[in-house]
Amino acid sequence: MALAATAPKNKAFAWPKECAAAVSLSFDDARLTQVDTGLPLLDRLGVKASFYVSLYAFNQRVEQWKKAVANGHEVGNHTVHHPCSGNFCWAREHALEDYTLKQMEEEILEANRQIEVAIGVRPVTFAYPCGQTFVGRGEKTQSYVPIVARHFLAGRGFITESHGDPTFCDLAQIPARGLDTLTFDQVQPWIDDAAKQGHWLNLAGHEIGGGHPQTTRPETLEAIAAYCRQKNLWVDTVAAVSAYVKKVRGF
Ligand SMILES: [Zn+2]
Repeated sequence: MALAATAPKNKAFAWPKECAAAVSLSFDDARLTQVDTGLPLLDRLGVKASFYVSLYAFNQRVEQWKKAVANGHEVGNHTVHHPCSGNFCWAREHALEDYTLKQMEEEILEANRQIEVAIGVRPVTFAYPCGQTFVGRGEKTQSYVPIVARHFLAGRGFITESHGDPTFCDLAQIPARGLDTLTFDQVQPWIDDAAKQGHWLNLAGHEIGGGHPQTTRPETLEAIAAYCRQKNLWVDTVAAVSAYVKKVRGF
């Protein structure tokens, strides 16, 4: 398809270098395959990505994460304990249903502190563990989105059914589609749709290569990088695209 056919219809917003859309790749939990397989692959492809790190795994590869940041990748905040709904059995000890806003804020700031001590860079964006944004239960349920908005340039969701309209989206709740297990043929319609509308597509995964069920396929990453280059789409970190959106629209 010719570039003209995919030119952004969103005339109110222009991406840099006449790109038709923005695409961000991000990976959660500092899974070891991100360092061992993902970073060398992304560097070979010339693609900068965001990594929302779990501290236990992160601390096993600190030197490599320092190098990744020096290479232009982003390390972001993903809390200390990865609190999610206690309906996940593994999250029961740190269940969002049992959290308070104060506890969540302290934990998020503690993760920032530990990351900064380890690699010398303070995270500027956040990814909601499991994509969930609440604490408490029933009538006492509260959103912790305002805490993320207070401390970060942006907060990335997970497995949403849309991509971001840069003229409208709340940077504290950026939509992100799941990337794990997908072939390029499954991802391409989302890229084409974002290009058609001038939107920002966020793709979020976990492992990179290997046999784990939550694995992004290296060949899918290679095909995404090639396709975005061919279509003149802007591929950059969540922090870089968020900063651009904020600068252009003023909020
Ligand atoms: Zn996670």
